Amino acid sequence: MDIYVEHIEQLLLFLIFMLGASAGSFYNVCIYRIPKKESIVTPGSSCPFCKKKIPFYLNIPVLSYFILQGKCKYCKHPFSLRYPIVEALTGVILVALYLKFGYSITTIFWFVFISILIIISFIDIDYQIIPDIFSLPGIIIFATAPLFVPDISVIDSILGILLGGGSLYFISITYYIIKKTEGMGGGDIKLLAMIGAAIGWKGVIVTVFIGSLTGTIAGIIIMISSRIIDIKLKIPFGPYLSIGAVIYIFFGQALIKWYLTNTII
Ligand SMILES: [Zn+2]
Repeated sequence: MDIYVEHIEQLLLFLIFMLGASAGSFYNVCIYRIPKKESIVTPGSSCPFCKKKIPFYLNIPVLSYFILQGKCKYCKHPFSLRYPIVEALTGVILVALYLKFGYSITTIFWFVFISILIIISFIDIDYQIIPDIFSLPGIIIFATAPLFVPDISVIDSILGILLGGGSLYFISITYYIIKKTEGMGGGDIKLLAMIGAAIGWKGVIVTVFIGSLTGTIAGIIIMISSRIIDIKLKIPFGPYLSIGAVIYIFFGQALIKWYLTNTII
């Protein structure tokens, strides 16, 4: 009997993964088309090279990529590995949220929020821009976090917006005064204000810390691997802020507790 229950649970997790991955498939369309100002609704999925429509049975998230060996069925043009990665990432996020928050409005809220972070991050990687179309309405939309997330109060959220927008603004102004060039894009400031709205002011502190740490490590790895030592190397900051925010959603409470018990105040 128990073995059946186990199988049913595994099947459920697989279905949740596929649901998330299907959403990820749509985010690929958003990442590809929004910066080009194309419609995300029409036309349906098609090969970006030969423009042939991709039939529904070849549009299964993650799996189709491997069945077709990463190539278009018609023109054989290779597809980027990025497509299944975005799909799998979105699927894994939904499974992880389900395991942490169960069937709840909190899971749905965080899934919408992290989905926006995924789209923003990959657009930032490709174009070094964070479209205002997400971050500005996002500040208002995600300020509803206190309605959906038990740990976040209205004050947390408001202070999160002010601290998120304010701190990066302060850093970029200081950087400008010292270096006379823009170091951080305005897009990052609006993104961190949006993140602050959703996860509150404590979340902003953790996000900036983790974002700077992972961003610096990634920057060093990129410089070493490309053999270009350039201190002005442009590294999109959006993905690292997003990583920080996601880590805070899953481990924030534990991190703060650990920090408070391991530091002498
Ligand atoms: Zn094609």
